[in-house]
Amino acid sequence: MNKSLDKKGLLGAHLSIAKGFDKALYEAQNLGCTTLQIFTKNANSWREKDISPKKIKEFAKAKQQTGIQIVASHTAYLINLASKDRGIRTKSIHALKNELLRSAKLELSFVVLHPGSHNGAGEKEGIRLLAESINVIFDQVSENIPLLLLETTAGQGTSLGQQFQQLAAIMEKVTPQKNVGICMDTSHIFAAGYDIRTQKSYNHTMDAFESAVGFRHLHLFHLNDSKKELGSRIDRHEHIGKGFIGSDAFKYIMNDPRFFHIPKIIETPKEDNMDQINLELLKKLVD
Ligand SMILES: [Zn+2]
Repeated sequence: MNKSLDKKGLLGAHLSIAKGFDKALYEAQNLGCTTLQIFTKNANSWREKDISPKKIKEFAKAKQQTGIQIVASHTAYLINLASKDRGIRTKSIHALKNELLRSAKLELSFVVLHPGSHNGAGEKEGIRLLAESINVIFDQVSENIPLLLLETTAGQGTSLGQQFQQLAAIMEKVTPQKNVGICMDTSHIFAAGYDIRTQKSYNHTMDAFESAVGFRHLHLFHLNDSKKELGSRIDRHEHIGKGFIGSDAFKYIMNDPRFFHIPKIIETPKEDNMDQINLELLKKLVD
């Protein structure tokens, strides 16, 4: 394997499981992906879904056949572990616990979670409730679960996780800490006010992450451009190089030796063959 292929490393997309869990892996392979992200259930519903042993077996077989070993799941959007509403929190704990168990059955590597919103209770209280909820789950599930990744957020409304320091504060309160890590979404950090458009601003943002959280806790990238401007606090993904971030930022990430080993996944809009075009562009950005 030459050096530039090495750098392209693990690159993939979020793909649908509508046609089957195993089909998502084969589709990923057709797109040239070496990693994948999926929802293990409907992302906009509380309804839970069991995965049959047959489907688990088919998925394991597809993993072997495609060679795609690192797969992440993204949690449902309704989950809010930081909610001051006890009912919502209880439902959320139940949902995340099931997500971790389901993902463990599929032998996924990561479960990506939006840290949630404090809904006016304040940042400190939100962080406390979130960490407490995660700890309740970790108390109930066995050791053998995927790594839970807190995703950086755009900071819409009262959502937590738009500042690196907040993510650090959450992680600090979670036990065991080895069960959690971070997923960095480029469109979210940009919307939250972290600039990455020039080499200088990129370095500045990454230094801020390193000092607040530490790269050792970074396990996954979501590579998305942004339909909204820097600091807009609005979460709208755009195709790579077509938004307000621009392609330079993705060039810095793809060529940053600190991140060669970290899987990178696009969650760009599903239009025509844009997944293929976005992935090819990212590969081309590698020096
Ligand atoms: Zn994301």
